[in-house]
Amino acid sequence: MALADQYDGFLIDLDGVVWLGHELIEGSARALEALSEAGKPVAFVTNSPRISPAEQARVMQEQGVQADASQIVTAGSTLLSLALDELGSGAGVFATGTPGFFQQVVDAGLNPLEQVDWEMAEGVLVTGHPRFDYGELKAASMAARGGVFFAATGRDPTMPMADGLWPGTGSILAAIETASGRKARIAGKPERPIFLAGLEVLGLPEGAKVAMIGDRLDTDVGGAQAAGLDGILVTGNDSIPPGTETTPDHEIESLAGLIL
Ligand SMILES: [Mg+2]
Repeated sequence: MALADQYDGFLIDLDGVVWLGHELIEGSARALEALSEAGKPVAFVTNSPRISPAEQARVMQEQGVQADASQIVTAGSTLLSLALDELGSGAGVFATGTPGFFQQVVDAGLNPLEQVDWEMAEGVLVTGHPRFDYGELKAASMAARGGVFFAATGRDPTMPMADGLWPGTGSILAAIETASGRKARIAGKPERPIFLAGLEVLGLPEGAKVAMIGDRLDTDVGGAQAAGLDGILVTGNDSIPPGTETTPDHEIESLAGLIL
C-alpha cells in the first residue's frame, strides 16, 4: 500500500518539497498528479509571505504543476485572515513588508496607514522586507505598545540566500517586540493558525486523517503534530536542523515516496 493511501488529504510545504528555489524537484509534479487522480485534496502551505497565493499558483502552473490560488496558504494570507477576523474589513493597520505584501493587505480589505498615522492603527502586522528602517520600527512599536492587535508571519531569525543567511522576519519582529514590550501572535509555521487555514482549504469532514509534508523537522513536522496532524518529513534536501527531538510519523526522500 502506498503511503498516500493512509491519508484523506495533505498539507504540502513548497520550498524543499515541491521545488527548490522555484526549480521543481524530480518526481514532485507526477506525485501531485497522482494525488489528484486519487481524489486526495491538497493544500500548499508556505511560510513565504513575499508573493501572493495567486502569484505562487501562477509560478507553479508555469512549472507544470496544476495548482489553484485557492489551494495556497501562505503565512501572509494567514496573517491577513487573523487580522480580518479580529479587526473587521476596512480597519486601519500599520504594516511592514514588501510592496507585494502591501498589495495583499489592500486586497484583503484592510487599510494600510502611513508612519505618521500610527496612532490611528487598530493593528500592527509584521513581515520582513529588505528596506526595513527606524521610522517603521518607531511607528510599529509605538502602535503595538498601545495594546492593539499585534501579529507577524513568523519568528524565523534568518532566511537562506545565495550568499548566506539574511536577516528574516524574526529579526525585525524582535526589534519591534523589544521596543514595544509586547509579544506578537504568529500566523505561520510552526504555530497553529497556518495549519488550520490549510485544513479549511481541504474541506474534509471532522476526523479525516491529514498529514503535513515538509522538509523542516521543527516547523513543518513539529508544528503539524502540535496542531493534531501527522507530520511526514522529506529527507532528500539536507535541511534537517540537528538537535530537535521531534519524531516524524513517516520519512520519505521526496514527494515521489508518497505514491510508491
Ligand atoms: Mg520547506
